[in-house]
Amino acid sequence: MKPEQIWQAALGELQLQMTPATFDTWLRGSRVLAHEEGLFVVGVASGYAKDWLERRLHATIARTLSGIVGRTVEVRFSVSGNDAPAAEPLVGAKVLLPAAEIEVPETPSLNPRYIFENFVVGAHNRMAHAAARAVSESPAGAYNPLFLHGGVGLGKTHLLQAIGNASARQGLRVLYVAAEEFTNDLINAIRTHTTGAFREKYRTIDVLLVDDVQFIAGKDATQEELFHTFNTLHGQNKQLVLSSDRSPKAMMTLAERLRSRFEWGLLVDIQTPDAETRNAILRNKAEALGQSVPAAVLALIAQRVQSNVRELEGALNQVLAQSALLGLPLDEALANRVLANLRPQQRTVSTTSVVAAVAAFYDLTVADLCGRDRSQQIALPRQMAMFIMREETAASLPQIGDALGGRDHTTIKYGYEKLRGLVDTDDKLRREAALIREALYSAK
Ligand code: ADP
Ligand code: MG
Repeated sequence: MKPEQIWQAALGELQLQMTPATFDTWLRGSRVLAHEEGLFVVGVASGYAKDWLERRLHATIARTLSGIVGRTVEVRFSVSGNDAPAAEPLVGAKVLLPAAEIEVPETPSLNPRYIFENFVVGAHNRMAHAAARAVSESPAGAYNPLFLHGGVGLGKTHLLQAIGNASARQGLRVLYVAAEEFTNDLINAIRTHTTGAFREKYRTIDVLLVDDVQFIAGKDATQEELFHTFNTLHGQNKQLVLSSDRSPKAMMTLAERLRSRFEWGLLVDIQTPDAETRNAILRNKAEALGQSVPAAVLALIAQRVQSNVRELEGALNQVLAQSALLGLPLDEALANRVLANLRPQQRTVSTTSVVAAVAAFYDLTVADLCGRDRSQQIALPRQMAMFIMREETAASLPQIGDALGGRDHTTIKYGYEKLRGLVDTDDKLRREAALIREALYSAK
């Protein structure tokens, strides 16, 4: 068999091993670009497809090919297809389609600033970005619904709106709505006996984007209406995209049937960005603003603002504003001053509250954290407590040692540095640190 025939045979088998949407999105149209002893180089449509295939299907594909060839086969992916960068958003403008000239509908609910082109991709959001891209490239053809979840300020709204902008550009009718607005709209409709118009508005579109659905937890009438909206649109093969600050499973008072709808398609979470991505986001922002900011200043901001992209942007804006308005040089001293003022509440967290929050988060007792047990299940949370106390309180190393049952300051220093390193490289730990911080501040 020729390499291309082998690949076609492999595609036939792969098609049976996955959902049609997955196959269509990532593999349809792929072909062999090069072949030599035991190695296939497969050309795919885009960088996203390449990335996704490498991460998710590499082993499956290699196994399938090996089965056909009868020996171990290596596979690599390479971008061969039309992955040209998309044009500027064209909301309200005219787009030429092969068949006819169509009017792009005005979509006032969308912010033209939120597009894929200025969204920085890192390990923390790679899946979410790829899924959002896939959905925008073939609405209702890839994942339906797409459910994005993650903490505040991590880019959920940006991605939802980017899907909306890209879909509107294709001439689709798009409606973006925050769940809160959906609720208010519904309440008004009920009050003014205009539920017919309400349904008309929400059920005659091609793409419905519902942001922050955690808001409808515990709201029975809204859940009921959203359930029917969902069914109507999904039944007509229209795309739904939802976002939430937590997964459907973690939405305690969500009706079971709505939860199961949310989980029908693809659930993806967005984590907090690592140091490198935070730097890239800041560089990108500075560039977009046409400002040249010293790398050391960007690095300082990236190092200090860890868990929220919105705050990251806010810090950069503040630094730029102060420099421009007060005529101060754009340097680390200015950045330090701005950062110290940005989160003054940071310094009011007590060591006791950190120890309590960490213990609660890991299902341990304060006595466990302060005790002598050095098994990993306790030692790591203990070091997390050291790390968070060092970052979020004004306590000195010896004071932190005291708060943890009288430990030596060198132990604290070691634990803090270890966790600081880990939090930058380990997604799970970074997320845990962010959640503990959140718990710490929302408890006040
Ligand atoms: P969320 O909806 O998750 O709370 P947003 O989408 O509102 O977060 O993002 C907060 C801010 O951070 C927005 O201005 C957004 O443009 C920006 N942002 C978030 N993630 C990225 C990213 N990966 N690249 C560029 N900007 C980002
Ligand atoms: Mg949002």
